[in-house]
Amino acid sequence: MTEKMLKFTKVDQQTPNKRKVNSRVDNFEEIYDEFIHEKAKEQSSRCSQCGVPFCQVHCPLNNNIPDWLKLTAEGRLKEASELAHSTNNMPEVCGRICPQDRLCEGNCVIEQSGHGTVTIGSVEKYITDNAWEKGWIKPIVIEKEINLSVGIIGSGPAGLACAEELRKIGYQVTIYDRYDRPGGLLIYGIPNFKLEKFVVERRTKLLKDSGIKFQQNIEIGKDKTLKELKEKHDAILIATGVYKAREVNIPGHNLKNIFPAMEFLTASNRKGLGDNVKEFENGTLNSENKNVVVIGGGDTAMDCVRTAIRQNAKSVKCIYRRDKENMPGSVREVNNAEEEGIEFIWLSNPKKFIGSDKVSSLLVEKMKLGEPDSSGRKKPEVIPNSEFEIKADIAIKALGFDPENLPKLFNDSNLLLSKWGTIKVNIKSMETSIDGIFAAGDIVRGASLVVWAIKDGRDAALSIQKYLENKQLKKIKAA
Ligand SMILES: Cc1cc2nc3c(=O)[nH]c(=O)nc-3n(C[C@H](O)[C@H](O)[C@H](O)COP(=O)(O)OP(=O)(O)OC[C@H]3O[C@@H](n4cnc5c(N)ncnc54)[C@H](O)[C@@H]3O)c2cc1C
Ligand code: SF4
Repeated sequence: MTEKMLKFTKVDQQTPNKRKVNSRVDNFEEIYDEFIHEKAKEQSSRCSQCGVPFCQVHCPLNNNIPDWLKLTAEGRLKEASELAHSTNNMPEVCGRICPQDRLCEGNCVIEQSGHGTVTIGSVEKYITDNAWEKGWIKPIVIEKEINLSVGIIGSGPAGLACAEELRKIGYQVTIYDRYDRPGGLLIYGIPNFKLEKFVVERRTKLLKDSGIKFQQNIEIGKDKTLKELKEKHDAILIATGVYKAREVNIPGHNLKNIFPAMEFLTASNRKGLGDNVKEFENGTLNSENKNVVVIGGGDTAMDCVRTAIRQNAKSVKCIYRRDKENMPGSVREVNNAEEEGIEFIWLSNPKKFIGSDKVSSLLVEKMKLGEPDSSGRKKPEVIPNSEFEIKADIAIKALGFDPENLPKLFNDSNLLLSKWGTIKVNIKSMETSIDGIFAAGDIVRGASLVVWAIKDGRDAALSIQKYLENKQLKKIKAA
């Protein structure tokens, strides 16, 4: 791959070394713009415009990929951007962070025939970044505002997508979020090296400029009740995500310097956003010159190890109880992490955190894979007397997330849950067990993907529109 070509790869595929190369060549922006444009054109021209667009079928948003590739190949970039936006509220985000190898690109016919996929995600990112640069992406202008309002709890991708779709129709929309910045996991979860924060901020600014109201630092269930929201708005969307970190309940778990993944990632993201983060400044949540151990094998664990290496950790180890083939995280992410110098200790399980006040090491036991369990996955079993110790100045728990207990938090037992603790909805309408309250995103699916949250948000908006129209009709009939 030549230096110039590097700029066309996704940020998350780039190692720190490659990124250094990029910053060197940033001075040649003009030559680059031309090059990137040519590269996007070249990639788009590779699309065979096959009869059955498997890429489109495997995109959760059913994006019209073949058509926007064709438009890009023909240099009709404004139309390509409009088409990309017709099904997706943030194509530049999905272009950067969708696991395309499992979605559109993994199902590209050219990939299937062994010739390497069209880089759909990169083209999607290019089309939209270019549209932003050219000033083609404009706030929504409402001809006549409808005198009905929707309250949205949560400003992650599900809440934002729903808000935008409802605003386009003309509804009054207010988003409530307990964080100080909108964006949900886009802003404080996903690291900057995968998704640059300006990309999220310019989207949320656009929505503010479109007349959507944002109320930050408001936790529903604490600062305002669900009942208050129901009284204030004509419909509600719950899009609160899943945040309860799974615990590692082994001896020593109360020692200092053992952190949940989100605490570690949020501090790093806040720092990147220019905040004064006390725990980072005083070294507590900074990996520099430290031995870091991350427990877990999913994408969040990969984000933690890759963040730690960028903070110049002395060593970064990831311990996971199964082997590489059976990791839940994306293979691409694991390969990136390995390339960046992270050491994976496969088939290993934490047995004890060791230390007097702070953690200083981890006692780990070796595992082997036994017979498949009820889920069909091979069950990890402990190998007796196989313990060994690894140094750890910081240990990060990245074992996944569960939903918080929302009926309790919202003080409403009518809000029914699934057996996994997620909100139960009618899958056709996204409506919960309470009339006029809808739900979308991770709080319905469990920890999932941005593209699915956007899809849910859009679907919920359609149902909320129907619900409000019916409500209006009933009022008119009753009058
Ligand atoms: C570290 C990490 C990395 C990830 N990387 C990727 C990736 O590369 N690609 C990908 O596709 N997906 C990724 N994901 C998953 C993706 O981020 C989520 O699936 C997606 O953000 C879910 O969107 P959401 O809108 O449902 O919830 P969220 O993004 O979680 O947003 C929920 C919002 O609700 C707010 N909230 C919660 N409770 C309340 C309350 N009571 N009152 C007010 N506000 C409240 C929260 O503050 C938050 O802002 C990652 C997840 C994590 C944790
Ligand atoms: S939204 Fe995701 S899955 Fe769909 S085309 Fe874009 S990158 Fe592929």
